[in-house]
Amino acid sequence: MKVIKLRAGKERSLQRRHPWVFQGSIEKGKADFGETVRVESADGSFLAWGAYSPESQIRVRAWSFDQAERIDAAFLERRLAAAIALRTRLAVPSDGVRLVHGEADGLPGLVVDRYGDILSAQFLAAGVERWKAPLADALLKLTGCTRLYERSDASVRALEGLPSVRAWLRGGSDDPAAARTTIHESGWQLTVDVAEGHKTGYYLDQRDNRARFAELVRHYGCKSVLNCFSYTGGFSVAALAGGAARVVSVDSSAAALELAKAHVALNGFDTARHETRDADVNALLRERLAADDAFDAIVLDPPKFAPTAAHAERASRAYKDINRLALKLLKPGGLLLTFSCSGGISVDLFHKIVAGAAMDAQVDGALIGKLEGAPDHPTTLMFPEGEYLKGLVILKAC
Ligand code: SAH
Repeated sequence: MKVIKLRAGKERSLQRRHPWVFQGSIEKGKADFGETVRVESADGSFLAWGAYSPESQIRVRAWSFDQAERIDAAFLERRLAAAIALRTRLAVPSDGVRLVHGEADGLPGLVVDRYGDILSAQFLAAGVERWKAPLADALLKLTGCTRLYERSDASVRALEGLPSVRAWLRGGSDDPAAARTTIHESGWQLTVDVAEGHKTGYYLDQRDNRARFAELVRHYGCKSVLNCFSYTGGFSVAALAGGAARVVSVDSSAAALELAKAHVALNGFDTARHETRDADVNALLRERLAADDAFDAIVLDPPKFAPTAAHAERASRAYKDINRLALKLLKPGGLLLTFSCSGGISVDLFHKIVAGAAMDAQVDGALIGKLEGAPDHPTTLMFPEGEYLKGLVILKAC
């Protein structure tokens, strides 16, 4: 067993059960890609078992803080079983469920989503890459699924020195239709393509917020809704379900908008109530302002502007811009649902950015709710980096 010895004083983070060891904390020791290592403090005492990643700044990701633990296929299967059992307890009201959420489930770098009878997984770190085959086998065994698609095409793979992979790992076929399925969420049908969709296929983290939006649209009697960064129209379907008479989905992806249209029809809504706009959101908001085309409700769910804290400043400006424009464009008394999925932007910072946007727009509003990712995307108390999706619900003053 290879040993990674930390520099004096660098043991505190692991002692607090934070699962990452940065390269700069290591005094000595090396191992192969994904190999299990014993991490020790400067005085030689045991801190954790972890997976070594020779190229990543995050040089070791901890598997376990229990010295008696053996890191093998049975250990990984126990971790998977615990993650799946948690979802059963959560009683997620959908057949689209995040079964494994990386560090929060004690499986650093592994993301597994279940869409109906298809599993879609990302192996984003050296440890889970090395144990890919036993993990895949255990996942099929524990879920009863026969098909597992690998969506290891996230950019963070490059930081681990890993190539991008998009292929069936178990079961499946070359037919592109094999990668498509329909999930059932809040009484809606949503189509998912595990090969072509974003992330592992869909944004399951917004599940509860879509349902909440439908309720808010109904409660406040919002008739016109602008869904910015709509992707395949999840929030648009929610708005229609909430009784909106006119919903506009805006996205820069024509393919996503085609699916948004299809979702409106699939869920039995009058397609005349839904429009799509293939446009840049910032430009579209300015255009609608110039046209005096105000809305009762606006959703802003942009892509990650700040993947890490290093991008926070430029991202802050981008968030502020769209929030300022949206707050202006809203009718008096209108509803804004605004999100950030940037790990580099904290809840507090996001709150400040949106407050600044309201100042600039000279708009008064009440913050009536705070939103986060659905509970099948948990965060642990010890790993604040896992927190990424945050949202604010704002009612513009009348
Ligand atoms: N709200 C969606 C997820 C949004 S993902 C849901 O609940 O499913 C972000 C979307 O923003 C993507 O579909 C991407 O195509 C789109 N996008 C990124 N930059 C954009 C821009 N500048 N203008 C319009 N759309 C953009």
